[in-house]
Amino acid sequence: MSLIRSLGYLRVESTDVPAWQEFGTRVLGMSLGRGPSPDAAYLRMDELPARIVVTPGSQDRLTAAGWEISDFSDFSDLSASLDEAGVAVKHASPDELADRRVAQMISVDDPFGNRLEFFCGAALDSRPYSGTGFVTGVQGMGHVVLPATDDAAALRFYTDVLGFRLRDSMRLHPEMLGLPASDQPLWMRFLGCGPRHHSVALAPIPAPSGMIHLMIETGSIDDVGRAIDRCAKFKAPMISTLGRHANDHMVSFYVRTPSGFDIEYGTGGLTVDDATWVARQTTAHSVWGHRFSGGGGR
Ligand code: FE
Repeated sequence: MSLIRSLGYLRVESTDVPAWQEFGTRVLGMSLGRGPSPDAAYLRMDELPARIVVTPGSQDRLTAAGWEISDFSDFSDLSASLDEAGVAVKHASPDELADRRVAQMISVDDPFGNRLEFFCGAALDSRPYSGTGFVTGVQGMGHVVLPATDDAAALRFYTDVLGFRLRDSMRLHPEMLGLPASDQPLWMRFLGCGPRHHSVALAPIPAPSGMIHLMIETGSIDDVGRAIDRCAKFKAPMISTLGRHANDHMVSFYVRTPSGFDIEYGTGGLTVDDATWVARQTTAHSVWGHRFSGGGGR
């Protein structure tokens, strides 16, 4: 089992924090949290002080994906295994810990430059959460799809070093990604660290914003339907129709964030048990729906 429990938070740099604040609360149904920086937006999905932290900057990009570790003991084991694997590890400063409201944190870059933070001892927010009911808990805040250009290096780092389990693979046709036709297979890998079918997926798709999409899951189809209504009301660009994914069974749609990457907004995702799960190849993206405007599917 991986020492990593779940996806804990995302940190996003944005040229328009107020747009994110509006999008996060009005469209996604998150509630506004409090935090140390008056210029940042702290978006809550549950009892944590923030699941998405949006800080002002000159670019629109994901700056880090934060991963939660159970306790100090697992945290030091993970830190030791990263050292052993020769991965450059940066230890958080007291300011960084205070900003994230966690007891310990280290960060690394994956082989593709995606910044990953590992933390334990997150503070809880004592004010009750009042937004949409998201499925978090042991499943974490959702899943994230990151760009990774080298399949073998991606698998080595995420499975051998970080301990994620391969849950499924999907073969992509280069033409789908606007690349020349080739007989070399391109793979999308779906990896898990807890009961959620996948907490990270790695895709050979360039992403100037550093992220392809974030999936957040709600408790019911009505929550998804209401979010679709809010996209229309607040003119948030929906980029796919509703659909059901073939691998994790999620019924979802995709909407573009103010930072140019997408959010998959879904319900009914599959949970798995490593004792019985067998990793296979899915040959269809979705069993129905998920018609994308403006290009290929994800
Ligand atoms: Fe997804």
